[in-house]
Amino acid sequence: MKQYKIGLLRGDGIGPEIVDSAVRVLKAVGEKFDLSFTFTPYLIGGAAIDACGQPLPEETVKGCLASDSVLLGAVGGPKWDTLPGHLRPEKALLGIRAAMGLFTNLRPAKLYPALKDDCPLRADIVANGFDIMIVRELTGGIYFGERGYREGKYGEEAYDTESYSRMEIERIVRVAFETARKRRKKLTSIDKANVLETSRLWRKIVHEIAAEYTDVEVSDMLVDNAAMQLVKNPSQFDVIVTSNMFGDILSDEASQITGSIGMLPSASLSGETRGLYEPIHGSAPDIAGQNKANPIATVLSAAMMLLYAFNESAAADAIVNAVDKVLNAGYRTADLRGGENALSTVEMTDKIIENL
Ligand code: NAD
Repeated sequence: MKQYKIGLLRGDGIGPEIVDSAVRVLKAVGEKFDLSFTFTPYLIGGAAIDACGQPLPEETVKGCLASDSVLLGAVGGPKWDTLPGHLRPEKALLGIRAAMGLFTNLRPAKLYPALKDDCPLRADIVANGFDIMIVRELTGGIYFGERGYREGKYGEEAYDTESYSRMEIERIVRVAFETARKRRKKLTSIDKANVLETSRLWRKIVHEIAAEYTDVEVSDMLVDNAAMQLVKNPSQFDVIVTSNMFGDILSDEASQITGSIGMLPSASLSGETRGLYEPIHGSAPDIAGQNKANPIATVLSAAMMLLYAFNESAAADAIVNAVDKVLNAGYRTADLRGGENALSTVEMTDKIIENL
């Protein structure tokens, strides 16, 4: 029996409820596929501030680095909103990503046929659904560049700089090509090469690496056009690769056209560790502790862990198929317009487990 050590970062708000759902699903799928998981919880975010005065204790970092993989719920909430920046729960997210060297963010945006009515786009645009994987660079670019304030020609001014090294571009582009290879073999690289030098280097490197992946069809698209194409014809995309800031914005746009924030998982990967898996939504303080949260984004994050961290594709598929079946059978949580018949977090988890 294969054994995997999973670090659990339950966090705040609905975090503990949805992580517990994913743990139940992992245990159930483990029994079916002969996999054994040990789960070790570590403190993060507001819960860590309350317990030991800081959002990312050293013990949490050490524990995550010693785990085979890490599952995160969400952090933050009004209780900690007035703390200074370095003590905010969200600071822990940047800290754990840096400590684990997570330079790749994989964010799938898939429209489930059963949820077509939740999509804000016209029915004819999404008639064929869509299934996009956004590969976003996570540790470089303008969010990490030199910044500051200075006295300029017109008085006070602020600046942020974008820089990307060949190494940073090459490693993320390779992840994207490998990801495309495992899917429909189509890669769109998004940049602003008509204006930015970093984009021109990005584009050059994409074309160089493309020579090693002749089985993958690759094209370039300017980011302004991409923002339009995502709402005009989302089914044209398979894998998208882009820089940190463009990926930040486009992945939120893509998540919105799936119609439901409670459905979308994500994976953050590095070359050395097996990554961190989390739903894209936050801690939803408005429904915390009420057994109302949709656990599917976190359950699907666990499925991504099985696939990307452990290469257990059959077990991952079993979870994805179970979620499909549950949705096709008409089961919904409150956020999916479940109305009076809405299932609770625990009931939705039970349904997924029944359908594994
Ligand atoms: P949010 O994603 O927590 O909530 C937005 C809305 O979506 C709320 O109405 C919420 O009830 C709903 N929602 C979110 N996830 C849901 C789920 N699984 N099931 C049902 N409904 C769901 O965003 P927010 O309200 O802007 O932020 C709340 C807190 O979360 C803030 O402190 C913010 O900083 C933090 N946050 C954390 C992360 C993270 O941990 N990765 C990400 C985003 C926001």
